[in-house]
Parts: sequence; structure tokens; C-alpha cells
Amino acid sequence: MKRLTLEYVRQQFAKEGYSLLSSVYLNSWTKIDFECLNKHRGQIRYEDFKQGYRCSKCAGTKKKTIEEVKEFFEQQGYELLSDEYVNSGGLLVYRCPKGHLGKISWGRFFSTGQRCAVCAGNSPQNIEYIRQQFEKMGIPYCPQLILMCTLNWIIDVPKDIVDK
Ligand SMILES: [Zn+2]
Ligand SMILES: [Zn+2]
Repeated sequence: MKRLTLEYVRQQFAKEGYSLLSSVYLNSWTKIDFECLNKHRGQIRYEDFKQGYRCSKCAGTKKKTIEEVKEFFEQQGYELLSDEYVNSGGLLVYRCPKGHLGKISWGRFFSTGQRCAVCAGNSPQNIEYIRQQFEKMGIPYCPQLILMCTLNWIIDVPKDIVDK
């Protein structure tokens, strides 16, 4: 593969209104500093830039369409079950590649790279996790209450649980 020069990369960034801040360019997998159209500073790999990734701060604030969001989820092997996108903090219902249902905000999924909480082992769908939360809050163990919470996680997750 042809090695790209810093100048070439700078031109590609400029076409999109991005300024390149790094003064060295090693390869397309090394993160380089940039400033976006909206004057956010961030880092991106040229490889990702080429694939269409842009400033993550813009991605978190700019209104996306449900189609764009769905497409990105699908690229990651996730099925998006929500059919409305409100904002980057709004919760979206997904099915992960292993078939778990859950909710995540676009901001977390895209900008922080967070994925399925069940796969990560810290989901409220995990009974042990809920039991621990109850213990912390001083609520006595009650299997029915826990079951209610696991079901509720799928139907309507209270925001304060998700943010923990
Ligand atoms: Zn930006
Ligand atoms: Zn999963």
C-alpha cells in the first residue's frame, strides 16, 4: 500500500473543512489531531476518517437520522429495534450480536464505544447485579421485585440506573 504523506492527509481533511493539527503522520492507524468545522479538537485515525467517521463531539450533538443510527448499529452487528431517534442521550433499544436486548444512548454507543451491558456483565438484566444494587440501597432481597426489574429493564429503564 502506498504510504500517504502528511500533506495528502491534510488535503483530505481540508476537503471536509477539518484542519490537521498533527505535524507528523506515521500511518493510517495512528491517531492524528484535528480540529473540526465546529472547532472541536479531537483525534482520529486516517483509516476511520476514510471510512466516513468524523468528529465524535459533532456526532454527539448533531441531529442524526434514525437511518444513520441504524446503519452504524448494523455495522457493529447490532440490530436497532427503536424506530425513532430523539437525541444522542435518548435511549435506543437494541439486540446485540449475541441476542441480548438492551438500551443504550447513541452518545454512549458511538462516542464512548460502549456496547451491550449483558455481554459486559454489568446489566440490570443480570440478576446478581440487581441483587447487589438492592443490597447497596438497603432493600431486602425479594425475587419478585428482582424479576420486575429485569423485565422493566427491557420495557422502560429508569435513566438513573443506566447512568450508573
Ligand atoms: Zn466537531
Ligand atoms: Zn450482549
